[in-house]
Amino acid sequence: MSGEAAITVRGLRKAYGAIEAVRGLDLEIAHGEVYALLGPNGAGKTTSVEILEGHRDPDAGEVSVLGHDPARHEAALRERIGIVLQTTGVEPYLKVAEAIEQYRGYYAQPRPLDEIIETVGLTGQRDQRVRRLSGGQQRRLDVAIALAGDPELLFLDEPTTGFDPAARRQAWDMVRNLRSSGATVLLTTHYMDEAEHLADRVGVIVDGAIVAEGSPAELMARRAAVTVSFRLPPGHAAILDGFEDARDDGSGRYELHVESPTELLHELSGRALAAGVELAELRVERATLEDVYLDLTSGAAGEQAA
Ligand code: ATP
Repeated sequence: MSGEAAITVRGLRKAYGAIEAVRGLDLEIAHGEVYALLGPNGAGKTTSVEILEGHRDPDAGEVSVLGHDPARHEAALRERIGIVLQTTGVEPYLKVAEAIEQYRGYYAQPRPLDEIIETVGLTGQRDQRVRRLSGGQQRRLDVAIALAGDPELLFLDEPTTGFDPAARRQAWDMVRNLRSSGATVLLTTHYMDEAEHLADRVGVIVDGAIVAEGSPAELMARRAAVTVSFRLPPGHAAILDGFEDARDDGSGRYELHVESPTELLHELSGRALAAGVELAELRVERATLEDVYLDLTSGAAGEQAA
């Protein structure tokens, strides 16, 4: 990844009256990277992305998108980025291929039609009328249209909101296809599993600034890898003597966090057997990105502050 990053943001600020939506955001996204921006409602994701897209002007800070300042609205930048809008005004009586063709016509060097249709997984719907597409297929058409100009950089805003589980998996395949074609993707999502599966790197934004960043694996390493939890009948907490971090959640359910659970489980079940106590509802769970995300954002005022 030599040379300039695809996106560089330094000290970005944007307020709407008294509301400081973005407060000193820094971001660097490499060419070919899939970067997921996560954060609670009202954290400033949309505002930041809209500034990168050139749809909003910042109050302060430096922004470079493919070497351009998006606030200048240069055609040379517009030709190289793809934006998936929440609602695309596609003519409903056109067929899928015709609709994509129409948008390809706006670009000097469009991406080949068949490649677009295949990337977004609409091969079976190629000759179907737009108005007959399902919601998920419609969203894929929106992405197809964003791909018409063969963009180097694609902005995907909550690409799978409202999708059924199968459609989500297909959308993930689509993002992977985009990644392997070399495109840079900036996506926002509220689904942690989506970020975990798709993103090379994740940035967690809280109150208008990035509070944590890294690959999903790096972020997950912030937390003990495994949580062991179980219920103890009242009066038997003594079997946890020596387990310093054992916490009762108030209902008799205990949690322990460890890197590898084998030894702990051995010790724990040995003590429980000796005491004639059942470790009820015993669970051993790997940490997920969602656990880390919730740790990072639990203190966030989020939307309530607004
Ligand atoms: P969500 O996850 O809900 O989409 P977000 O992280 O995208 O949230 P933004 O939409 O960027 O957050 O909003 C950040 C803050 O700015 C919020 O407090 C929001 O109410 C406020 N805000 C956003 N757009 C405007 C606007 N056009 N006018 C006034 N305030 C706005």
